[in-house]
Amino acid sequence: MMGMKTNLFANEEDIQWDEEWDVVVAGSGFAGSAALCQAIDLGAKTLMIDKMPVLGGNSAINGGAFSIVGSPQQKERGIEDSYELYVKDIFKAGLGLNQRELVEVIAKNGFEAYKFTTERGVFYRNNLGHFGGHSVPRTIWPAINSGGKITLPLQAYAKKNGGTIRTRVILDDLIFDKSGKKVIGIKVRENYKFSYDPMSNEEDNKTGTTKYYKIKGGVIMATGGFAYDVNFRQKVDPKLTPDLDCTNHYGATGYALRMMMKNNIKTRDLGWVQLGPWGSPDEKGFGISPVFAIPAFAYGVMVDARTGKRFVNELADRKIRADAILKIHENPDGSLTHPVVFCDSVGATGTRKENVYRGIHKKVIRKFDTLKELADFYKIPYDGLKKTVDDYNKYVENGKDEEMNKPFFKLRGKTPNISKPPYYAFRAIPKVHHTMGGVVIDTEARVYGKDDKAIEGLFAAGEAVGGPHGASRLGSCAVPDCLVFGRIAAKSAVKLLKQRV
Ligand SMILES: Cc1cc2nc3c(=O)[nH]c(=O)nc-3n(C[C@H](O)[C@H](O)[C@H](O)COP(=O)(O)OP(=O)(O)OC[C@H]3O[C@@H](n4cnc5c(N)ncnc54)[C@H](O)[C@@H]3O)c2cc1C
Repeated sequence: MMGMKTNLFANEEDIQWDEEWDVVVAGSGFAGSAALCQAIDLGAKTLMIDKMPVLGGNSAINGGAFSIVGSPQQKERGIEDSYELYVKDIFKAGLGLNQRELVEVIAKNGFEAYKFTTERGVFYRNNLGHFGGHSVPRTIWPAINSGGKITLPLQAYAKKNGGTIRTRVILDDLIFDKSGKKVIGIKVRENYKFSYDPMSNEEDNKTGTTKYYKIKGGVIMATGGFAYDVNFRQKVDPKLTPDLDCTNHYGATGYALRMMMKNNIKTRDLGWVQLGPWGSPDEKGFGISPVFAIPAFAYGVMVDARTGKRFVNELADRKIRADAILKIHENPDGSLTHPVVFCDSVGATGTRKENVYRGIHKKVIRKFDTLKELADFYKIPYDGLKKTVDDYNKYVENGKDEEMNKPFFKLRGKTPNISKPPYYAFRAIPKVHHTMGGVVIDTEARVYGKDDKAIEGLFAAGEAVGGPHGASRLGSCAVPDCLVFGRIAAKSAVKLLKQRV
């Protein structure tokens, strides 16, 4: 029957519960950590589990870029912004496929979520970034540009205030009541040893000891995305072949999502998987290139190495840029020619010196004293490259990019052109980065079944959810999404707990 879930037990009375909790949060990234803090603040006996041996998921390795409307950093710089503009930008990147009410909730509650983190020990630098696809600068960062500087203080706060956190506990299944409409507990394995062969999809090893946790309020699925799941991602988008590199942590698989699908939970947008246009073929995973790419795209150009010509607005949203690269980089014989992104010494000061040094040390970023050296190194026709730079400099002087319509932004009061050597460059390749699809929720973070009815006791937040980002997520919008909906999911679970008791 549509909407019925696969019950593990015929009768609730048959279940030998090992433990009992008010709220269990599965996943310890931004969404899970925010949910845990919120739930304990509301007085619920809360457990957060993660299948991995370390906490934090993608959130802990993330760049910490966090876009909100109304930050002190925006105010100090006199940047005018609005919720409406924020929603409009997210919609434009998402090709209008976004679930509008979820985007509005993120826009309106992002600032509150930011405050929530500062009140729990997170420190943000006085820096404001302008990410591709955003109409105005609205991105802030915690210390050392790392999402770990958000998750760790939240987890420390939670532990200090009565929250329980366990690693190496994998959520294997949901346990429903007899009606199949209410989640009353979960099946987990403790002492689970993560091992995953992306080619065979063999995450479901048999390690660990099975336990059953009874849950009085709700289960919060903060289990993240599935970009690292080579098999599953190719099933939902055949273009995503195994040779494409991925920026995620190894645990970003579809295991939790597949479990929910097996339980007839409704999903959306699974085929929309985002490629980050700022990866480099000269390093594995996320690496250093995306950090350097921020100033390089803003204050420099990306050229096709075969011609030296630009081929896309370097500040367009991620999907436009990644699609443009994939369209041009393959040669007729199947080999790849990677585009080259570069800026001059002034543009490079748009990121910290250490980032540039690190990139040079890893041989991902290259430094050149002349444009000719840059052209020769990457085998770019010099005349084509020189013309591109001369044209670009004219556009900067006139304040209008006549070729690609890239918006120009100032750095310390002036828009940098490309004229002051040394030049800094990297080769670009798109890498699988974010999965827009996931389970369907409403503005209270309640998860829906295939019968279009909310499932009592089941909530979800963060990258596990589909809807907020439509076809493509704008950079720095995942942090607010996860924190906002993590908190909402916890509030909803505690509200239900009070109704049920
Ligand atoms: C390298 C990188 C840099 C990024 N930089 C930015 C940025 O600067 N700004 C921005 O907005 N976004 C950024 N993103 C995207 C953003 O980090 C993610 O979308 C976000 O971290 C997702 O958070 P989450 O809490 O939903 O999931 P995650 O942080 O991925 O956490 C999910 C957790 O759930 C656990 N889990 C999964 N299944 C189970 C199960 N069955 N049982 C128990 N545990 C389970 C996983 O092990 C994982 O720890 C970046 C992503 C990457 C990969």
